[in-house]
Amino acid sequence: MKLLSNWVVFFHSIRFRLVLWFSFILALVLFVFSMFIYYNQAMEVRGETRYRLARKFDDIIEAMAGFQKQSPILQPSDVFMLVDTNGKVLFNQGINTSQDVVGLMGQVKNAQADEESYESSQPVYWIQNWQDKSTEYFFIIKPVAISGQTGFAILGSPFDPYGLTSRLFFSLLFGSLLTIAIASGGGLWLADRAMRPVHAITLAARSISETDLNMRLNLAGKDELAELANTFDGMLARLQVAFDRQRQFVADASHELRTPLTIVNLEASRALGSKRTVPEYQRVLGVIRSENEFMSHLVHDLLTLARMDAGQQRLEKKPLDLSDIALEALERLESLAESKKVSLEAGELPETMVDGDRQSLLQVASNLVENAIKYAGGDQKWVRVETGMDGTIAWLRVTDNGQGISPEHLPHLFDRFYRVDKARSRESSDEQGGNGLGLSIVDWIVRAHGGEVQVDSEPGLGTTFEVRLDASEKRD
Ligand code: ADP
Repeated sequence: MKLLSNWVVFFHSIRFRLVLWFSFILALVLFVFSMFIYYNQAMEVRGETRYRLARKFDDIIEAMAGFQKQSPILQPSDVFMLVDTNGKVLFNQGINTSQDVVGLMGQVKNAQADEESYESSQPVYWIQNWQDKSTEYFFIIKPVAISGQTGFAILGSPFDPYGLTSRLFFSLLFGSLLTIAIASGGGLWLADRAMRPVHAITLAARSISETDLNMRLNLAGKDELAELANTFDGMLARLQVAFDRQRQFVADASHELRTPLTIVNLEASRALGSKRTVPEYQRVLGVIRSENEFMSHLVHDLLTLARMDAGQQRLEKKPLDLSDIALEALERLESLAESKKVSLEAGELPETMVDGDRQSLLQVASNLVENAIKYAGGDQKWVRVETGMDGTIAWLRVTDNGQGISPEHLPHLFDRFYRVDKARSRESSDEQGGNGLGLSIVDWIVRAHGGEVQVDSEPGLGTTFEVRLDASEKRD
């Protein structure tokens, strides 16, 4: 059964089909080539035989005219007949029956030996199988005049007495078959060698599981298969990065959820452990509510990112004014700013048109302003929002006079779950849980709009986030 399936696999393999096609084309070429050679050779033999026959005919007639008896030029394999005009047979060798004569005369007619050519003494030639079916004879018939008598003579000789054409035929057949056999064998060997890397790729692909993407083919060379293997390795590397990122994401998400769940569990257990006063219960409920808010916020952000990764977050881009978005974000976060004693300032807000999805860009502005409020510092805390144009680039800037961010953190700010100071961020989650996802969402949305986010920060002085987008070409 296994053997059978191996053969089935072999017959379906590319190398088998390649060799089959190759052999077929080779056979076709050899056939045409052999036909050409055989035809040429046959024509040559025919011409030569005809010449020999014509000379022999003349020699025989000449000899007969001289001696009136069988000519020594006639070979035993030749046939010869001399007939006078009345149809009387004057000489005959090898033509036995009257049917033979009728047959020969029929051939003369077939060869279009009309009256005219007969009278004009033109010889007529033809070939036919003679008695022994496997031997072809070449015939000549010609009017003759011997010793004052007129008539005609027929002479027939074996067409190819040395079997040149049949030998050539078998040589060509055998040579062609041998060539095809050697070429097919060699082709199969070559195809097998060429396809070996494919086998290696197949084995490697089979051994890769989603938990182990470390496997690489590392195929050396510059041919197509090495290129394929390199592409395959590149794809594996990208997949590995994506899988690792996904795994990290899930681990971080679980970790983020575990902390508030543990807090809720601890607080509730402690409250239930013994009788407590009303203010104590109130404090515990407050903690539970705050942790619940943190988790809601986290789950909401996780869902947003998951939808973005899955390509389900649709952006409905329309021309809109960034300054409207900035004002709306300021309005939304006014109460938060008040509670944090941060003054919200609307800086210069000229009309700044971009093509964008209103809801998503509002989320970008809100996240940045919310962060600025959260991380604003000093006695006089303020956050300023501005918009403007740099040539064809529209920008929205959110500046605060907060603690700033040290340069080593700047490259990681937009990574998921990245927080400069994890402990402090988590502490400040009493009202606004910092989960480290806000800037990743901002970055994703701005990139999806074909723009970029830039950060400029001075530790101790403040931070400026700038969203840069292509300005809309349509201006109302
Ligand atoms: P979080 O929810 O923790 O604010 P973000 O992704 O929005 O998460 O921000 C990532 C980190 O970047 C924050 O934890 C904070 O350390 C830092 N950060 C963001 N905005 C500011 C800002 N305006 N000033 C100082 N640090 C900031």
